[in-house]
Amino acid sequence: MGESRMLIDGRLVDAEGGATFENVNPATEEVLGPVADGSPADMARAVDAARRAFETTGWASDTEARKACLDQLQTAIESEQEDLRQELVSEAGTPALITYGPQLDAPLREALRWPRDMIDEFEWSRSLGPKDAMGVGYQTEREVWKEPVGVVGVIVPWNFPVEIILNKLGPLLAMGNTCILKPAPDTPWNATRLGRLIAEETDIPPGVVNIVTSADHLVGEVLSTSAEVDMVAFTGSTATGRRILEASAPTLKRVFLELGGKSVNLVLDDADLEATLAGSAVCCMHGGQGCAIPTRLLVPRSHYDEAVEMARAAFESWAYGDPTDLSVLQGPQISRRQQERVLGYIQQGRAEGATVVSGGGRPNHFDRGWYVEPTLFADVDNTMAIAQEEIFGPVLVVIGFDDDDDAVRIANESPYGLSGMITSSDLDRAKTVARRIRTGTLGINGGIWYGADAPFGGYKGSGLGRQCGTEGLEIFTETKTVGWPAEG
Ligand code: NAD
Repeated sequence: MGESRMLIDGRLVDAEGGATFENVNPATEEVLGPVADGSPADMARAVDAARRAFETTGWASDTEARKACLDQLQTAIESEQEDLRQELVSEAGTPALITYGPQLDAPLREALRWPRDMIDEFEWSRSLGPKDAMGVGYQTEREVWKEPVGVVGVIVPWNFPVEIILNKLGPLLAMGNTCILKPAPDTPWNATRLGRLIAEETDIPPGVVNIVTSADHLVGEVLSTSAEVDMVAFTGSTATGRRILEASAPTLKRVFLELGGKSVNLVLDDADLEATLAGSAVCCMHGGQGCAIPTRLLVPRSHYDEAVEMARAAFESWAYGDPTDLSVLQGPQISRRQQERVLGYIQQGRAEGATVVSGGGRPNHFDRGWYVEPTLFADVDNTMAIAQEEIFGPVLVVIGFDDDDDAVRIANESPYGLSGMITSSDLDRAKTVARRIRTGTLGINGGIWYGADAPFGGYKGSGLGRQCGTEGLEIFTETKTVGWPAEG
């Protein structure tokens, strides 16, 4: 059974009035157990605690304490890594195999450690040198100081919950901020476990990290509207990101948004088509519920039919099903609502005139679980909804292009700009194309850009700001410039 209590002001607590909601396994539709159903009043208490901790503990200035606490947290999570793995498979429906990579082990290796180590490397201050800055006849010494932003509201989705939580908490804590974490209602236990570990296994001062679970999305909105919160760090859909930005405007808080995507897998005409397309069904990993997954396959129009047949073969041999089975990379969608949303898009694709080449519905060999067949669409025009909108399901659309210019045009004709892949036998050509694609990350010839040291985020509707890397530390800081008369 998972942890049902929230973490507020250093204590593990139930929600106001003892309210709870159910955590459900999307593969079996069984109730896993209860979790606290936090109210706006619980959220307000958490905000107060985070504010107080920022103002009154030494957290914002004591870099040695922060390093020690991040080490303790790392050790604590590692001590429960296998339980956490099983819990993630149960509550997120993630294939167990992915937990050995991006869903758990990869971020756990570095998401806390890298920013912890960067506390010593980070340029906390820099001198601008003396200058008669306003021409008043004397030299002024000037320095730029970096300081924590303050209280950060952290709002996360359900698809890669541990990865996203650690890649936000690591940098923001390393930079000296305090926070309130609001996990997605679909995957609360990994966050409440973290809360218990923080309370019981670390010296992180009370109030520095607060964790509030709630079935009601709008409890999270307190973080956008409260004048006591300095910044919201959000990962989720573009629609919610826009709403957070609007709700944050009256208090002019900092808003850091990691949003949706509709990225391309661009196969240039000099690429080995067969070898590349053999892996085309990988976009169905975790039910396609990954923001950076390339879900538009762009192939040379001269080889379009051939490419569709190769992709069909890849889709038809793609294994999916029970996420505890280590031979699958695709489990269920997170909820019935998401399953229906994906099936609705498939319907829309058919109605718009695209052709379902493989899949296209709810599989009939599962009697439980919110599964969708891996689905391949051909005859797709980039203006169709299935090519423009984020489906967040196991659906790939194949679009033909005439030449590199046309491929770049199609890639960029999207409201999003998060990620993408390019394959070519000519690395320089691939890089030239990469420079023209307006997205925050790109993998060339199978290269993987990911890492705690690698900035990740989007152009256009895919977000504001960058998570990870030096940029992902900077974003959790304010800048103060000071000057004093130079000596001599
Ligand atoms: P969502 O936007 O529905 O919800 C995300 C979180 O926001 C949840 O915790 C939810 O409870 C909360 N929330 C909803 N309305 C809110 C409001 N008005 N104020 C404050 N909080 C609110 O997204 P989701 O369905 O949980 O996740 C899927 C989306 O997340 C996809 O669009 C995906 O692309 C995106 N995503 C982006 C990244 C990235 O780094 N760019 C990573 C993972 C997922």
